[in-house]
Amino acid sequence: NTDKKDFPGQIHETPGGGIVLSKLDDVINWARSNSLWPLTFATSCCGIEMMSVAAAKYDFSRFGFEVARASPRQADVIIIAGTIVNKMAPVLKRLYDQMADPKYVIAMGACAISGGPFFYNTYSVVKGADHVIPVDVYVAGCPPRPEALLHALISLQQKIKSGLTREQIKTGKE
Ligand code: SF4
Repeated sequence: NTDKKDFPGQIHETPGGGIVLSKLDDVINWARSNSLWPLTFATSCCGIEMMSVAAAKYDFSRFGFEVARASPRQADVIIIAGTIVNKMAPVLKRLYDQMADPKYVIAMGACAISGGPFFYNTYSVVKGADHVIPVDVYVAGCPPRPEALLHALISLQQKIKSGLTREQIKTGKE
């Protein structure tokens, strides 16, 4: 995903090479947004839709989400795909803490957003992953379609490219 139109700066082609004019922060954010490594974290049914996004039909590597990793130390985005129960919450927090900064979180599906169908009268389910770790992008649905997760991934890329922090995005203050 190295479309020139997407590049945050000017590229002037010259014979035998070229000149690039940009800000270093913009180039770093652009490169970072196009090379995100998701941690595999599927806890229930939404996980099946997440897996399909990595497979041939949807193929999220087209957008720069190239390598899903089983280790938090090698990942910089966690897609919470499924229900989080109270016993699992400390493990989710530990995995998040073990990821290297800067790191990002996508809450996929009603369970990850709010507890979903387990919101009422269920003693064992966390009522939203953001009670445990900060969330950057929420994907509605039960389960969300693969296209919705792709849209969330692209939204996350746009947030990263903007260079704004979570707090700045939330409050609208730069
Ligand atoms: Fe399953 Fe729906 Fe919860 Fe996703 S949101 S994990 S599909 S119950």
